[in-house]
Amino acid sequence: MTECSLTSLEAVEAHSVLPKDWRVDLGDLSSLDLTLSALELIRRATSRLPQDVITALARGRASEAEGSRAANTLGTMLENVELADRHVAPLCQDTGTVIFWVRHPFGASQRALKQQVRQAVVEATNRSWLRPNCVAALSGKNPGNNLDPFKEGHPVIHFEEWERPEVEIDIMLKGGGCENVGGQYRLPDVTLGAGRDLKGVRKCIIDAVVKAQGQGCAPGILGVAIGGDRVTGYEKSKELLMRRLDVANPDPRMDEFEKALVADLNTLGIGPMGYSGHTTVLGVSVEEMFRHPASFYVSISYMCWSSRRMTLRLQNASPAIFE
Ligand code: SF4
Repeated sequence: MTECSLTSLEAVEAHSVLPKDWRVDLGDLSSLDLTLSALELIRRATSRLPQDVITALARGRASEAEGSRAANTLGTMLENVELADRHVAPLCQDTGTVIFWVRHPFGASQRALKQQVRQAVVEATNRSWLRPNCVAALSGKNPGNNLDPFKEGHPVIHFEEWERPEVEIDIMLKGGGCENVGGQYRLPDVTLGAGRDLKGVRKCIIDAVVKAQGQGCAPGILGVAIGGDRVTGYEKSKELLMRRLDVANPDPRMDEFEKALVADLNTLGIGPMGYSGHTTVLGVSVEEMFRHPASFYVSISYMCWSSRRMTLRLQNASPAIFE
């Protein structure tokens, strides 16, 4: 299978904003500064598609008829991937809503870390690695720096204090077009004939993908949360988009469900960008949650082919690891 060829990691390092031989000092967490490492994380995430997504796009192209619109569209996407990587340029003009998950040991100040991450977003916007995407809801007024003009809602930053002696930051750049085609279902749903079971969940997912055709920049990747409340369900569905496409669901029942779903969704004929074909989705990630006995939500987040996500790991006295 022919894939696109990315620049070497050495070439990526050569453009790094982190000084050569940079090491993080986690000895005194009160003085931890994530600004530069978060900036480098944004730079890499915006221009370099994860390898598992590239492999899935290449596999999709190989499955389409030679010369078909689907094959050509996937080929153009892979060419786009190469160009963005080579020129360290955004993979798509829409650099999305910027979402972080920051995990840190006891002792770090979340207030300080938040300011550093926000500063990194402002700097990445100044350098045109991020488009200024954050506007006031009613007026559409754009402050130009990707900071929520009212409070601190953007960039979105989720914090978690954990037991491990290291810091981990996930980033996701969530495009607006694909965000528009996500959805939340409340079961039972008589219109869909969907009950409160996996069969009902399947009907919701198929409905969402059919409604998304021609929008959302397929082939898509779906994060699906079963349960939760309206907020936690959506949050979980988005978090699930961080899972690599080549990593199996640890729950065997969900793994089987996901694999069957991907196969079924790819028979819908929607194809890349809605041009028909066999490559409608690249993957589905499903997780079961708690729920209130009276509620049964299925929350679906749809990610476009330009699935920009990356993880930064910082271990004491070690170089930054970007995965
Ligand atoms: S949905 Fe994704 S690929 Fe399409 S315009 Fe938005 S960010 Fe770009």
